[in-house]
Order: sequence, then C-alpha cells, then structure tokens
Amino acid sequence: MTETETKRSANFIRHIVAEDLSNNKNNGKVATRFPPEPNGYLHIGHAKSICLNFGIAEEYQGTCNLRFDDTNPSKEEQEYIDAIKEDVRWLGFDWGAKEYYASNYFDKFYDLAVALIKQGKAYVCELNADQVREYRGTLTEAGKNSPYRDRSIEENLRLFSTMKNGEQEEGSAVLRAKIDMASPNMNMRDPTIYRIRKISHHQTGDKWCIYPMYDFAHCISDALEGITHSLCTLEFADHRPLYDWYLDQLDVGHPQQIEFSRLSLQHTIVSKRKLKLLVDKGYVDGWSDPRMPTLSGLRRRGFTPASIREFCKRIGVTKVDNSIEMAMLESCIRDDLGDNAFRVMGVLKPIKLVIENFDNDKTETLNAPNHPQNEAMGTRPLPFTREIYIDQDDFREEANRKYKRLVLGGEVRLRYGYVIKCHEAKKDENGNIVELRCTYDPETLGKKPEGRKVRGVIHWVSATESIPAEVRLYGCLFSDTTPETAANFEDSISENSLTILKDCRLESSLVNAKLAQGYQFEREGYFCLDSKYSSPEKKVFNLTVALKDTWSKSAS
Ligand code: ATP
Ligand code: MG
Repeated sequence: MTETETKRSANFIRHIVAEDLSNNKNNGKVATRFPPEPNGYLHIGHAKSICLNFGIAEEYQGTCNLRFDDTNPSKEEQEYIDAIKEDVRWLGFDWGAKEYYASNYFDKFYDLAVALIKQGKAYVCELNADQVREYRGTLTEAGKNSPYRDRSIEENLRLFSTMKNGEQEEGSAVLRAKIDMASPNMNMRDPTIYRIRKISHHQTGDKWCIYPMYDFAHCISDALEGITHSLCTLEFADHRPLYDWYLDQLDVGHPQQIEFSRLSLQHTIVSKRKLKLLVDKGYVDGWSDPRMPTLSGLRRRGFTPASIREFCKRIGVTKVDNSIEMAMLESCIRDDLGDNAFRVMGVLKPIKLVIENFDNDKTETLNAPNHPQNEAMGTRPLPFTREIYIDQDDFREEANRKYKRLVLGGEVRLRYGYVIKCHEAKKDENGNIVELRCTYDPETLGKKPEGRKVRGVIHWVSATESIPAEVRLYGCLFSDTTPETAANFEDSISENSLTILKDCRLESSLVNAKLAQGYQFEREGYFCLDSKYSSPEKKVFNLTVALKDTWSKSAS
C-alpha cells in the first residue's frame, strides 16, 4: 500500500493493532480471521469484514484465517463453502493453508465443556423451552435459578454424556453455563452451551447429536487458532462479557474481541437469511442475480474486485451504525470503469438508417480509439456501410435547438465517422418510423464541414457488419430506501428492476468480448458480458452502471 492509501484506511481498529504491536502484546504477532457461517453466499457486508481482517493481516505482516463457522448442522453447506471460497479469492485475498472449520474442534469443544462441568461452572438443565424463558427474567427483572442448577458435578458429567450418546430426546436437556441469573446482561444469565440436535452434519456426519452454541464455539475457535484480534460487528458487543467469561475459565488463550459497525446499504438488504428468501421464492435468478448485493451478483453485474475494495476503503470502519448510499458503491465502479473499460458502440433500440449516396457493396473501415484518454489501449476498426443503425431516441422529426441529435432536414455527426443529413423518415401503416433516408458528406471525416453547424454526435453501428445482442438493464431491487427495517421487506420489492432489450445491435468488435472486461457503450453506460446467459451464439450484456450518477438527478 502507498502511504496515502494507508492513511486513508486508518481506523480505530488499526490504531489498536498498531498500539498492541508497539507494546509487544501477543509477542508482536497479529492474527485475524474471517468466520462466515456457510448458510448462504457472501454479500457486500461481508466484503467490509474481509477487507478489514485480511487488510490488517497484510498491513502488519500477520495472518488471516478463513474459518467456516459450521456449528449448525445442515445439509446444503458444501455449495456455500465453495461459493464463499471463490468469492474471497475473487476479492483478491489469499488464506493460504489457513482454512479451518469450527466443526474440526467438536472434540475439543466437548472436552472444554466437560472441563467447565468439573469446575462446577456448567450444569445440565432439564427445563423445557417455555420454562427457560420464564426463568430467564426480563430486561428489568432478574431471572430465577434453574432447579437443576445445583446438581453435583458427577451427575452433570453423567447426564452430559447421556446427551452426547444420544440417550436423550431433542429439547429434553441442555448444558448451561453457571454464571449469574441476575446479571443485567441477558447473555450472562446461564447461557446454553450445548443443545441436542439429532441431525447429520456435513463435515462430521452422525458422530455428534449435541452441538455447541455460537458464543461458546466462537471464542474457543478464536483461541485455539491463536487469533489476536477477533473483529466482529456491533451486535456482539453485548456478548463480549460472555466471550471473555468462557476464555477466563478455560486455559486456551484469550483473543481480544473488538466490534465495528455493520455495513448497511440503501435500497438493498445484507442478510443472508433474507437474501436466501429472495432466491427460494424466485424473486431473483439465484444468488448471483446481477441485482443481488452478493459478491457473486456484483461480479456478474460487472463490478471489479478493485472497485469493491475501494468501496470498503471509502466507507471506513467505525463504531457508528449508518446506512451507505448506493451512489457510493456505484461511484467506485464508475471510477474504475472510467479508466479501464473499452469504449465501444452499441445501439439498444435500433432504427435502420440508409445512406443513399454510399455504395451498396462497399465497406469502409474507419478507425476508433478504445479509450479516448488512454492511447495504450489501442484502436479498433469500425466498418462503415450504406445501411447502419442508430438509436430510436436519437431521431425526431422535429425538435428545438436543444436537441443535439438527428432531425428531419438536419445534420449530425456519426461518432468517429462522417456528418450525415436526413431527408426522409419512412413510416409503416401505423405511423411508426421504420427507416431513415440520409446522405453523407464524404468531406467530413475528422473534419468540420465548412460554413454550417452540426447539431451533435450520435453513436451507430453498421447494419450488415454488427452483431445482435440482448441487453439487460437493472434498477434497484427495492423501492424502499431501507427495506431491511421494513415490517415486511417483501412488500418493498420493486416490480420493474429488470428490463430486457432483445433486439440490440453491437459493433462487430464485440464478437470477441471477454468475461470480466468492462465496456462502455458510448452514451449509454457501462456493460459487461453476462456469465450465465451469454454463449458464443448469443451475446447477453448486463448494465453495470450508468455513465453518470442518476441518484442525485432523481433526488432533485
Ligand atoms: P448474515 O446476517 O448476512 O448471515 P452474519 O453476520 O450472520 O450475516 P456471518 O457469516 O456470520 O454472517 O458473517 C461472517 C463475518 O462477516 C462476521 O464476522 C460478521 O460480523 C461479518 N459481517 C456480516 N455481515 C456484515 C455486514 N453487513 N457488515 C460488516 N460485516 C459483516
Ligand atoms: Mg449469521
């Protein structure tokens, strides 16, 4: 990182880490982890955590583990594990051999739970769920001790092993920590450590029928891996006393938990559970639908890893909850594509235009720069023919001077080409314009015509030497600014977030369009080839982002 980059990404967590290093805390080591639960695909909120954890490790020559927090047994996890790995790698981070699974520690968790029982700090409780709720108390009222709280250590050990051996029914007993039923922090009121779930686990099969709770498993996983700074989101601040309590009782090491605010992004949701519902109910075309805020969706939409890392840098890391405007994310990809996208021409709503004084069987090869500000990106040939297409929106029979495009009797320049003049608009029986008849001025290639003013410049493609394509335009999935806080977020799903244009024409160079390369369709926006529906026979392009910020426009 350059010095300014480091400065810009400085935040309170980096200050803590730097200070710990200067005090030689943790023997001068920095070890972080990114701990996703494999119950869905990663979203833009996870990118914030990934950039933070891997970023700190990189900056301080430390390590960052990828740990699957798979303490919840479920069947579908392998797909999610694979997708998570692909997404972290795509974002540009490498965990090397440091891939871990909380389920690898199941034996260790069990031993440590037994150790707590032996210390008299855990007990098997047979209250049912309703009773547990009743005994827990409320925020303003202390809870009551469970009648099972004072069982002997021997009895607890025996009962806990019957739980482990499958001799107890699901829901009939749990192992609880013996802390304080009157604690003002509800998390400290004898929290559950283990519960019975008679479900196979995708990594451990049927070996276990008891599974540890997150709070117990997470702090121990951190400690076992030698994590120094355990970074998590703010909602875990109230769990920190419990994180510390477990580690204080068990001699496994003691990482420091530090909380930062969750990313929330306007007009979308960042919760795997809710995103899964969009997928399961068919509101979107899978997890990688280009409208999804998932990393796979953003990738398919044409976002680059660099643009997402830049976004994470710009939003920073604080302890203040706030919701970020979509315009911020879009400006990151727009800046990236502004520099790196190839300029091309694509006509989204074509109308045929015939240049009557151009030979029918002639193709003239014009030359166009791939990026007007970057010569290194080279040039490409543009075939110019008697029949071309322009966009329907670029022609009007009549218009005032503000309309800088083609009008009947007026002149306009074809981008990288000649000045043309329109003298007839042919219509069908319904009065729709079907063809424009024009002439071109052969003296105007790269030269201004003498003594007359041309209205503007429009894009075009050859009718005979262009390729057909489908173009997909995207709007926001949610009309609500903050769908996440809506009573029912499904109600704010926008009805027209996808527009499919089936009859577009693109310049012939796009026959070689590559995945993961951005293209600016001049005057239209930034686009990329769709990785799911595009094939050699059929090109499908996605709108990545408009050329200009449309948010400020719609607000004014
Ligand atoms: P979700 O509600 O989407 O499932 P989660 O926090 O339960 O989110 P995990 O898979 O447990 O998802 O998250 C892995 C890591 O990513 C955690 O450390 C978590 O704090 C972090 N993370 C998740 N969502 C966000 C977010 N919106 N902003 C910042 N970090 C996040
Ligand atoms: Mg979760």
